Amino acid sequence: MKAEIIAVGSELLLGQINNTNARYISAGLAELGISVHFHTVVGDNAGRLEDAIRIAESRADLLIFTGGLGPTKDDLTKETIARHAGTRLVYDDEALVSIRAWFERMGREMTDNNKKQALILEGAAVLQNHHGMAPGMLFSAGSRHYLLMPGPPKEMEPMFTVQAKPLLARLAGFTGPIASRVFRFYGIGEAELEHRLSDLLDNQTNPTLAPLASDGEVTIRATAKADTVEEAAGLLDGAEAEIRKIVGKYLYGYDDETLVSKAASLLIGNGLTISAAESLTAGLFMSELAEQPGISAALAGGVVTYTAEAKMEQLGIQRSLLDEKGVVSEETASAMAKAVREKFGTDIGVGLTGAAGPDPHDGKPGGTVWVAIATGNEVRTRELLLSGMRNTNRIRAVKSALHMLIG
Ligand code: ATP
Ligand code: MG
Repeated sequence: MKAEIIAVGSELLLGQINNTNARYISAGLAELGISVHFHTVVGDNAGRLEDAIRIAESRADLLIFTGGLGPTKDDLTKETIARHAGTRLVYDDEALVSIRAWFERMGREMTDNNKKQALILEGAAVLQNHHGMAPGMLFSAGSRHYLLMPGPPKEMEPMFTVQAKPLLARLAGFTGPIASRVFRFYGIGEAELEHRLSDLLDNQTNPTLAPLASDGEVTIRATAKADTVEEAAGLLDGAEAEIRKIVGKYLYGYDDETLVSKAASLLIGNGLTISAAESLTAGLFMSELAEQPGISAALAGGVVTYTAEAKMEQLGIQRSLLDEKGVVSEETASAMAKAVREKFGTDIGVGLTGAAGPDPHDGKPGGTVWVAIATGNEVRTRELLLSGMRNTNRIRAVKSALHMLIG
């Protein structure tokens, strides 16, 4: 089955919003093994929308629309499809009831144009909208299918995942359960990972393996199809064992886990406290940790010591050390980690110093970073030689420190 996603909305063409719907739907279709051949964006204009439909029909058998299901005059997706397909629009009783109920709850008068939202293409399967008013629908004509969903992502995303995906899986001829697992890697580049796993990536069909790189991390999404949930899980376990054999030492987490969420739960779970002395990251490390619920049990505080003077005054670091070894050095990072650990009386102290880039700093090329983790009487250090933009380097420095914490 070949799919085309048609996002309807002039605001997309005006550059006011990103087409996140297409991205979301594409990722979901990939899990079902449905190929997306085109993403189309068209404004709120009946003529151009009909052009887009005609073109899509010439090259896809599943057309997925988002947007233009609302009550206003510029919402014309289903009207245009109805006219194009020669199908009537009829009121869906259940949708009508839930729209009426919504207005009653809000204590507002329901106007006729709101009633319009309960109109569906005759014969379509209705997808209830649990987060808004306009229902979605799946309409089939011959061997071609039309999925219509509302534009707002908070309405569209759950509707797609919970209601539409199972219907599409059936249309694509797949009836059994689908299970997926995301493997998360750190410390290895995408090219290197793909190179090492090339046999597996090329030959593995169930589960399928899809690598993705972003922000210095690589993930592989494994999607298995089977007759039972247990069987699907078994297939995923099998793939994981293969992956672990080759690149297991870089695998740090699954699914929604992130470096920071893992680090936070490790700290909280083990009753450990932490503080940080940050130079190039200027508080980013602490800020990342602070986003994690419950972190107040672990995160005591820290200092931003950007200049050499601040490092001396706030952390008592000797000028001789900075002069001899340099501000961007293993010794300085270690001294920062030890000093902040002592200052805050925590189990762990983190020191981050570096040249964020693009220019060299203190004689070190941009992207040179030292990370130190002080615990008890041990200090672990790591040097990073980064080549990204300034902010990317700062984010990578934080990630590396988090990775050292969980490693
Ligand atoms: P509503 O009932 O809210 O009018 P609708 O189905 O008519 O819903 P639109 O009017 O096309 O949808 O879009 C409503 C809002 O949804 C947009 O202003 C935008 O914020 C968001 N939106 C629409 N299309 C997309 C898209 N492709 N990607 C991300 N967001 C979108
Ligand atoms: Mg609208």
